[in-house]
Amino acid sequence: MSATILIVEDEYAVARGVQYALQQEGYAVTVARSGEEGLEFATQQAPDLVILDVRLPGMDGFEVLRRLRSTGSKAPVLFLTARDDEVDKVIGLELGADDYLTKPFGLRELMSRIKALLRRAYGDLSDAVGGRIIRHRDLVIDLERRRVQRGDRRIALTATEFDILRHLASRPGRVYTRPELLELIRDYEALDQDEKTINVHVSHLREKLEDDPADPAFILTIRGVGYAFAER
Ligand code: CA
Repeated sequence: MSATILIVEDEYAVARGVQYALQQEGYAVTVARSGEEGLEFATQQAPDLVILDVRLPGMDGFEVLRRLRSTGSKAPVLFLTARDDEVDKVIGLELGADDYLTKPFGLRELMSRIKALLRRAYGDLSDAVGGRIIRHRDLVIDLERRRVQRGDRRIALTATEFDILRHLASRPGRVYTRPELLELIRDYEALDQDEKTINVHVSHLREKLEDDPADPAFILTIRGVGYAFAER
């Protein structure tokens, strides 16, 4: 899994060119063709970064960003501007845009800006883009380094907790039964452990990961079956 990027751009050639270049770098990319569509995708998919054209039919880029921030999204936003007066507005409005590029721009320049924004927003984990990184909202799971972060905050997990999280998060929406999870963590646990041990680990995980462990947003209980990681 890699960083996800949403492009909101009505010019087909620009959108496709940027999308292709980003995909070559290993990013997962969605394109929205209007401000309304962009806002909808951004709300549904919670992308890690948004590339936002200023001049769009209907709702313009400024309005998209204003509404996006009002939903609580902190994803970094890179504005694409066509004219100097738009640049003035991007800087002057203090809307919470993180960077901008003036058209026409080079793809290499775009790529280096995006990498810098991801690094600033998510720390050095974003260097491993295209590697073994799982992201969901502000939760980042680095499978190779066995590290977990929420935003800037590192979360310390036991080996067992990490493995349960890894299995669940690797396949969002896939329901794991308690016997299945128990089987997965056998290496760490005494063989006579029963399935209740999974409940205890999940409860610890939730206390560490969730804003409200009683109303989890990441690790969901599937009643009568087991647990699943939330889908985007
Ligand atoms: Ca445009």
